[in-house]
Amino acid sequence: MIKKIAVIGGGSSGLCTIKCCLDDGLEPTCFERSEDIGGLWRFKKNPEEGRASIYKSVIINTSKEMMCFSDFPIPDEFPNYMHNSKIMEYFRMYADHFDLLKYIRFKTTVVSVTKRPDFSSTGQWDVVTESEGKQESAVFDGVMVCSGHHTNAHLPLDSFPGIEKFKGRYYHSRDYKSPQEFSEKRVIVIGIGNSGGDLAVELSHEADQVFLSTRRGAWVLNRVEEQGYPVDIVLTTRLKAFFKQVLTTSMVNQWAENRLNARFNHAHYGLRPQHSQHPTINDDLPNRIISGKVLVKPNIREFTETGAIFEDGTREEDIDAVFFATGYSFSFPFLQDCVKVVENQVSLYKFIFPPHLEKPTLAFIGLVQPLGAIMPIAELQSRLATQVFKGLIRLPTESDMMADITQKKDEIPRHTIQVDYVEYMDELACLAGVKPNLLSLFLTDPKLAMEVFFGPCTPYQYRLRGPGKWSGARKAILTQRERIIKPLKTRPVGDYTHHTSVLLGQTLTALLLVAWPLASLGTSA
Ligand code: FAD
Ligand code: NAP
Repeated sequence: MIKKIAVIGGGSSGLCTIKCCLDDGLEPTCFERSEDIGGLWRFKKNPEEGRASIYKSVIINTSKEMMCFSDFPIPDEFPNYMHNSKIMEYFRMYADHFDLLKYIRFKTTVVSVTKRPDFSSTGQWDVVTESEGKQESAVFDGVMVCSGHHTNAHLPLDSFPGIEKFKGRYYHSRDYKSPQEFSEKRVIVIGIGNSGGDLAVELSHEADQVFLSTRRGAWVLNRVEEQGYPVDIVLTTRLKAFFKQVLTTSMVNQWAENRLNARFNHAHYGLRPQHSQHPTINDDLPNRIISGKVLVKPNIREFTETGAIFEDGTREEDIDAVFFATGYSFSFPFLQDCVKVVENQVSLYKFIFPPHLEKPTLAFIGLVQPLGAIMPIAELQSRLATQVFKGLIRLPTESDMMADITQKKDEIPRHTIQVDYVEYMDELACLAGVKPNLLSLFLTDPKLAMEVFFGPCTPYQYRLRGPGKWSGARKAILTQRERIIKPLKTRPVGDYTHHTSVLLGQTLTALLLVAWPLASLGTSA
């Protein structure tokens, strides 16, 4: 029977993993190389070796009701989109509430994880750690890797001829902390992921001119959507997931493009991507472009001593600094040959389990790039993994797992570990036995069922039933909109929203969909 679990990393994934182990009667020991919890979200003035690094101003782009752990809602008064310091506050509350700190060994780096000689019968691992220059080895029944995947800068200098002769300075976005030192400079930002967008906007308030170079463009979403609700609250619903299933990809893309272009025409702003792209969330980018402070440019063909020539032949001179906001690569040096990462790809069943192990006692937590928040995903992954470790859930055969992995690889665009929130959460939840049963909900608790189906697919939905059921889940779902509105109501005014018409609309849609739920919702049990 598995008991002792090594958890590698004390970031958000590590924290919820410790808790899931405890909930399932396992004995976790978490090893964290730095002196504190929080991983990436703990801002430091200088980047630290082996830990992800953020800039001072980072505000999360996933809203509080979508990013919280499923049995620990974020307090009403916290803003919907939190600054990194507030996120740390939430993680500290979570760690305190569930008394997690005593399971963490800080300033302790995991240097190797190897199968024990009798692995095929025991599934046990030798875990070697290093703390203050001293190495120690211990045996564990299971290992959960929560070491993050935004630590190693991807700096593709080979793709940028002439960079060696460029006389200005160049950096990776990981090294960016604040804009002041770029005051009155001319800066190029390469890449239009969320880092590239954020850096371009922030730098443009100080710099003389910012050029944002993108090879493929991007769809840009605003944090604030319909009626002022957070964009993920509006878009991440079971109703929309249902439409995505029944409509063709081109219909869905057309709908999304029309909606995005209604805010600003992406072609006019030089941003329109050729294909469906991982969207970038940025509230200010169009404002900075329309005011000329950010100029969108194509990919760079080559650097000169003083500037860059772009693929359309245009040239920008007197460039002082270049930021490569070109993303990250991941690796697991402590695992040596046990799991191979090739070109940022790793073969994991459901992005969690290596399929080739004789015993399923190794799990990767948080190694996904969701269209949505990572935290609840990491939590559900951990809940599934602890059940697999305990033998309560059996994984399919190696060849079946490989077939599933191959099928997923064929579907994935930019990020090799990209997942769609509702689809992926439901997939995990089916395996873990915690997917909400909508048909029975509609019959027994229609009010809740309406919010589960039409409302945001918040993490509490995965605590309504099955292992790890939480008695507060129903209330958390029915009060989620209050928690969204509460922090905004800092000046009392009358409420003019028409709840009745919204409810009527939803009821009509529910009636229209009645034929479908009867056929398919019963299978979601
Ligand atoms: P991390 O937070 O990176 O934590 C990993 C921990 O493992 C670290 O504390 C590290 O010190 C420790 N560690 C690593 N190796 C070892 C070892 N060998 N031994 C011991 N300890 C080790 N996600 C969202 O959902 N929403 C967002 O809005 C969002 N914004 C982001 C903004 C930026 C700038 C970046 C770069 C990422 C963002 N992400 C966002 C993704 C982010 O990765 C997750 O939010 C989250 O921090 C991942 O948590 P984690 O615990 O998996 O990894
Ligand atoms: P990213 O999403 O991987 O984006 C990397 C960008 O670099 C893409 O635009 C990519 O272009 C481009 N790129 C990569 N290689 C290139 C090359 N050789 N030549 C030209 N362009 C290249 O990385 P990121 O923006 O750093 O984001 C990492 C994670 O942090 C994501 O999860 C993101 O959501 C998160 N984040 C969140 C916030 C926030 O919450 N405020 C802020 C920053 C980051 P292609 O698309 O063409 O490949």
